[in-house]
Amino acid sequence: MLITEILNKSSMSLSFEVFPPKKETSFESVKTATEKIAAMSPAFMSVTYGAGGGTSDYTLSVAQNIQEKYGVPTLAHLTCISSSKAIVKKRIDDMKNAGITNVMALRGDLTPELQNSDKKYWDYRYAVDLIRELCENGDFCIGAACYPEVHPESPNQREDIKYLKEKVDAGADFLTTQMVFDNNLFYNFLYKIREAGITVPVIPGIMPITNANQVDRAIKLSGAFMPQRFKAVVDKFGTSPEAMKQAGVAYATDQIIDLYANGITNVHVYSMNKPDIAKGIMQNLSAILGNSFSE
Ligand code: FAD
Repeated sequence: MLITEILNKSSMSLSFEVFPPKKETSFESVKTATEKIAAMSPAFMSVTYGAGGGTSDYTLSVAQNIQEKYGVPTLAHLTCISSSKAIVKKRIDDMKNAGITNVMALRGDLTPELQNSDKKYWDYRYAVDLIRELCENGDFCIGAACYPEVHPESPNQREDIKYLKEKVDAGADFLTTQMVFDNNLFYNFLYKIREAGITVPVIPGIMPITNANQVDRAIKLSGAFMPQRFKAVVDKFGTSPEAMKQAGVAYATDQIIDLYANGITNVHVYSMNKPDIAKGIMQNLSAILGNSFSE
């Protein structure tokens, strides 16, 4: 099923993001975790693509397994930075052969190593180049990333939104946001991109922080603003793992309910291969989502 078909429904739904193993030895544990999440029948699941392509084969095996075994539609991520056209075309063929119809088209992070490398042979500079390649070589439903708090490399939001529109004009069918901890930042962003003429569906990304150690990493990774209300939760419960987990799931649930209440129909949860976290959120929302999830 195409992600756009899911997003066009008026009912509320939830999707989850998982990541593939970095090495073969951890494949089985990742497979088990992702299957447990798939068994909860989310609207769809996205599978990330390792920076630099290191886990590319696993992205497809994890996505294909979820799709075939549980009938859950998947969204396979693909990055293009530092890749050659030949490699990207091979990845596109592999996706087609694996029955993948939804692709998240990303540039990938410019690591210090990549920044210092010879860019002469790079065939792709930005995600928009990959979106064009996907459109030329297939009939995929294409997602792209967006940043309510501005991408770290952008000089300002106006520039960032200008290039975001370029991605949509090139063929992105929907957008998923970087994690946000304050929904107002998402609503302001939505207003601005609609004003800029971007009309495709936008899925807010919610990251349940269930462990105090995740806070610094999440800020470093995303540059996201942590509201005082959330900092107080971490201050109070951060040293008690079980309490922090419960509080983190409750905070994420509260954000999701607010998004649904304000007309957003699909929310994407960065579930990080943690079935218990996905389950906690699903249980909290069971009546809202109208499912009989009770496991
Ligand atoms: P782009 O859209 O290319 O934008 C990158 C920067 O370049 C922005 O500042 C933009 O404003 C600017 N820009 C764009 N076009 C132009 C242009 N023509 N001229 C000048 N400037 C331009 N990373 C992974 O490695 N694997 C994943 O699976 C993955 N999944 C992600 C999922 C989501 C929902 C998000 C939000 C991010 C994900 N990332 C992932 C991280 C992503 O790769 C990084 O944020 C990366 O730095 C930017 O990727 P992008 O696709 O947004 O790039």
